[in-house]
Amino acid sequence: MQFDFDVAVVGAGTAGLVSSVVADSLGAKVALIERDKVGGECLWRGCVPSKTLLRSAKVWEIVKRSEEFGVHVEKPKVVWSAIRLRLADVRDEIRKGEREELGKSGVTQIAGNASFLDGHTLEITGKNGPQQIRARKFILATGSSPVVPDVEGLKEIGFLTYEGLFERPNLPKSLIFIGGGPLACEMAQAFGRFGTRVVMLQKAEQLMPREEKVVVEHLLQILRAEGIMVHLNAEISRVEEAGERKRVVFSVDGVEQSLEAGEIVLAAGKQPRFDGMNLNVAGVQFNEKGLIVDEKLQTSARHIWACGDCTGEHLFTHAAEHAAKIAGANAVLPVGLKVDWKTLNWVTYTDPEIAHIGQSPEEARREWGEIETLRADFKTLDRAIIEGEASGFALIFTTKSGRIVGAQIIGSGAGELAPVVVAAVRDGALIQEWAETIFAYPTMSEIFHKAGNEAYRVQLDSPVVKTGLGLWHRLEQKFS
Ligand SMILES: Cc1cc2nc3c(=O)[nH]c(=O)nc-3n(C[C@H](O)[C@H](O)[C@H](O)COP(=O)(O)OP(=O)(O)OC[C@H]3O[C@@H](n4cnc5c(N)ncnc54)[C@H](O)[C@@H]3O)c2cc1C
Repeated sequence: MQFDFDVAVVGAGTAGLVSSVVADSLGAKVALIERDKVGGECLWRGCVPSKTLLRSAKVWEIVKRSEEFGVHVEKPKVVWSAIRLRLADVRDEIRKGEREELGKSGVTQIAGNASFLDGHTLEITGKNGPQQIRARKFILATGSSPVVPDVEGLKEIGFLTYEGLFERPNLPKSLIFIGGGPLACEMAQAFGRFGTRVVMLQKAEQLMPREEKVVVEHLLQILRAEGIMVHLNAEISRVEEAGERKRVVFSVDGVEQSLEAGEIVLAAGKQPRFDGMNLNVAGVQFNEKGLIVDEKLQTSARHIWACGDCTGEHLFTHAAEHAAKIAGANAVLPVGLKVDWKTLNWVTYTDPEIAHIGQSPEEARREWGEIETLRADFKTLDRAIIEGEASGFALIFTTKSGRIVGAQIIGSGAGELAPVVVAAVRDGALIQEWAETIFAYPTMSEIFHKAGNEAYRVQLDSPVVKTGLGLWHRLEQKFS
């Protein structure tokens, strides 16, 4: 059989870019097909715009608190057009790096929408009409799209998703977020700080249900104190026009109420995207969650791999990158590398940030039985006091013997602290080792030193240790 390429990669977001460059670096002739913009969600409507916005929101917050630091600022104001200009610059800078890396590789880029004609042939429909390419192997990296909940009136009345939100010509006066996951929390806080009147309607009984309740409660208090209206257990029944505005009718505990805003933002989850790809002719199986892959990221068609959001597994850029390296290598080499999520962690970039590392207590209990949770507060850290960032705490989860299996941290720069725990989980470290490790003073990382010291104190407080030490002292007195 004649092939044009060894590997054809569909989708040039993080997963597609990384897997194509890896396959290319291993000597394969690679095609990378993209129907929209190279860079995918992360660059255009995800991580990069949202974190850039959050940075401006943080600067504004510090400016508003400037008197606290002895700095007087005259008449500061938020200029939305300038924020958008900075966003464009940030994007350009990051895009330049991606372009350079792709340019250095031998990957052939093809613009257009890819669809299978048979197991080895793709039809690519671009500006200049359709073309066909044949490849020996494929990597699918087609990403995900926002879930549109089945709410009466929603499609008719219109809504924003993240893409539309960042491209608004004017700062929105009011927004209602449908959803209360990490992305909604981040954007609600950013816009709230800029002065937009923000409402969040969350169906579940807590924001960010994957995080510990006590962590999310802390954030909830902060969001509410900043003026964001958050309704939990909110069942939306319909949306409708209200003059120039949009009205959302919902009930909490059976009591119906309604709120109005200029725009509705959907943040109700994501779904895998492989519409119109004709996966059946290629023999690729999928379910509601995404493309079905094994631990080598191979689909039911053994010459086709998948990675990133389209597999429905860990919808993060760093997870897409991690999986893409495995998929790229497996598609070229007969190595059969397995994807290992042991060091997976994620961060929600609210202020303060929330980092989630390793197992939750519930997951840990299933594997290890009894679990200890150790809490260390940022307000006990000199650095946090100096910075005026003393809000938050770290919860460290360990086995009975002190082995660190996970952590959740809410606090300033929690994301930068996460790798300390990631390394500990990976290496099977004991929490007591943090007491023996030197952490520079004054740093936020001393939170781990405090946790280690506390673990020692608890250990010394145990009846067994106390009896042992008492015996030792008596023996010492007797023989000295
Ligand atoms: C607001 C927001 C903030 C986020 N913040 C973070 C964050 O801080 N940290 C983090 O880790 N993650 C974050 N994410 C998630 C992150 O953006 C995604 O997990 C990541 O971008 C997924 O990469 P991907 O390559 O799998 O998919 P994508 O980047 O979506 O790439 C898929 C590409 O495939 C193309 N495509 C699809 N079908 C076809 C076809 N048939 N033919 C040709 N091309 C096709 C699409 O056009 C797209 O460009 C955020 C997401 C959002 C929405």
